[in-house]
Amino acid sequence: MGALPSYVSGGWHTPSGDGTPAYDAATGEEVARISSTGIDMAAALDHGRTVGGPALRKLTFHQRGALLKALVSHLREHRDELYALSARTGATKADSKFDIDGGIGVAAAYASLAKRELPNDTVYPEGRVETLGKGGTFVGRNVLTPLHGVAVQINAFNFPVWGPLEKFAPAFLAGVPSLIKPASQTAYLTHRLVELIVESGLLPEGSLQLVCGSAGDLLDHVTGQDLVSFTGSAATAQRLRAHPAVVRNSVRFNAEADSLNLSVLGPDAVPGTTEFDLYVKQVVTEMTVKAGQKCTAIRRAFVPAELIDDVERALCEKLAKVTVGNPAAEGVRMGALASLEQREEVRRSLKALSGAGRIVFGDPDRVDVVDADHERGAFVSPVLLRADDPDRAEPHEVEAFGPVATLMPYTSVEQLVDLAARGQGSLAGSVVTGDPDFAREVVLGVAPWHGRLLVLDAEDAGESTGHGSPLPAFVHGGPGRAGGGQEMAGIHGVLHHMQRTSVQGSPTVLGRVTGQWVPGAERSADEHPFRKSLARLRPGDSVTAGPRRVTAEDVAHFAEFTGDTFYAHTDEAAAAANPLFGGIVAHGYLVVSLAAGLFVSPEPGPVLANYGLENLRFLTPVKPGDELTVTLTAKQITPREDAEHGEVRWDTEVTNQRDEPVAKYDVLTLVAKDG
Ligand code: NDP
Repeated sequence: MGALPSYVSGGWHTPSGDGTPAYDAATGEEVARISSTGIDMAAALDHGRTVGGPALRKLTFHQRGALLKALVSHLREHRDELYALSARTGATKADSKFDIDGGIGVAAAYASLAKRELPNDTVYPEGRVETLGKGGTFVGRNVLTPLHGVAVQINAFNFPVWGPLEKFAPAFLAGVPSLIKPASQTAYLTHRLVELIVESGLLPEGSLQLVCGSAGDLLDHVTGQDLVSFTGSAATAQRLRAHPAVVRNSVRFNAEADSLNLSVLGPDAVPGTTEFDLYVKQVVTEMTVKAGQKCTAIRRAFVPAELIDDVERALCEKLAKVTVGNPAAEGVRMGALASLEQREEVRRSLKALSGAGRIVFGDPDRVDVVDADHERGAFVSPVLLRADDPDRAEPHEVEAFGPVATLMPYTSVEQLVDLAARGQGSLAGSVVTGDPDFAREVVLGVAPWHGRLLVLDAEDAGESTGHGSPLPAFVHGGPGRAGGGQEMAGIHGVLHHMQRTSVQGSPTVLGRVTGQWVPGAERSADEHPFRKSLARLRPGDSVTAGPRRVTAEDVAHFAEFTGDTFYAHTDEAAAAANPLFGGIVAHGYLVVSLAAGLFVSPEPGPVLANYGLENLRFLTPVKPGDELTVTLTAKQITPREDAEHGEVRWDTEVTNQRDEPVAKYDVLTLVAKDG
């Protein structure tokens, strides 16, 4: 069997040597050989920088999002063959769904985030425009542009599909090419994933490369424009973070490493409550999904001291029902560890852990298996330990990366927070309680040591995504021992691959740089902007309309017509006593409605719909007799990739006869591309 080819520098590279065998986790048969011998790592990085990067940077965020969406459909069509290969890593069908469907789901979430949260442009202006001078001629804003390097992604063996996709999707959206290096043990599954992606022909060349096998001298060649995202052991993270080229070039290094995640049972959750059952079910699920090889799995189960016997009994009962064996066989709940080496590693860690606690379920050296050979396959029993003295060091320091958890008692929230901190930083934690006050105390107490916290109770259990599932909209990563990194977190995962630059200049220049009109920049009022389709509309196109006098009759009519008879609009004496108004004022919504009546161009035309209004502030009260003028200016124009229209955001300012701002807001409309 020849070694698996890698996809580098625009083609498939077959390594020269035989490579190292990767074995089927359940049968021990050889699945593939892995080697990176002969790959020119410097050339691969260069290919990403000179071919992939420029091609990606030509596309807007929305165009990249559309490609990602097409890729998601393509991968969904090929799920079955990925499942089949995934079984060879020891994963059951449910485990494989977690990895494969979960990974594709992250890519889908990023594809839709592009449309929702990013402009249809190549630059991302962030936050507000700050006015830096009294006259309004000098302004500043943070602007993000893609780094011109490669996102080097070094992944762990446990999620061969989710791992690469959750790193690739935000990098791709940012406009930065990826070079994926999967863990050797399960690289054959990532290899097939990348083969499918390359075969699809959807992505610009150079935007995705794959190195199967050792990283070799890859990191020697990283520059300050490259990034490294690592998932794996804390020891490797530490070594790579200190790599001379990473240090010398201040390379952005993100790590996601081992962590001793906790789950807490609340004192209210006594046997017979829904929360007690949820806790027991969740601990068993977390121990057995992916045979416990999940960086987010529960390792430390804290329960009130008076409930520990009940919890132990319930957990043992449930664990006894877990069938272990061939992951492809009917009825098997837990498959194998990824390799025999991992099993040895788990057994070693169990020896260390048993110094602090006794095993109350499972035998590290023996397990009954279904439809498999327990010696040739990397099978291990779920093992539950109980440490009655939670102050012992081992459960807070030793991670057995398998179906292993330690049950420990606590007596107060204060002690719990102290014990949580002894894990030195975790990716995920959970609190199972029906008492929101207890939940608040624990969440706020342990949050500084956690990247994500789940509070599980009877109300959310039906829809909860569970303790172990990182979600694309939220941060994945934890402080300290967990690596100190952050992945995903919605748009933050994209922006991580970009350089934030503060740009200062005149409003006109800042508007041109960001593609968005900036208050203070020139406006053009040659034609009513509602008569212009997206083909002709430009940022800065505007209309000023008014004045319109607001009468006491207008206010009374609006109050009666809408039913909004709040005293400040209807009761002269009461309104006079209002310290902010000192008399009758017009409804804010009357002002907004009158403004619309002023700026609208009523005949049919390219403007299709008004679909919202954002950032509305009423700044000066409007009294009967005041005269309103409105200025509407096209601020941001976002054509949709998959439609014949796009969105236009209009800066809207209403002023009174003294030129005081009365209201400011953004009007959002849908406008046809042509016509
Ligand atoms: P490692 O840290 O050894 O490997 C993780 C990744 O780093 C792999 O792709 C590996 O490649 C690569 N790597 C290792 N050394 C180097 C190097 N010098 N330069 C560049 N890349 C390198 O973790 P393992 O996958 O072997 O797992 C070991 C332990 O890590 C587990 O038992 C578990 O405790 C923990 N772990 C934690 C995970 C988490 O998400 N928090 C996930 C998986 C494991 P290669 O495979 O080719 O050596």
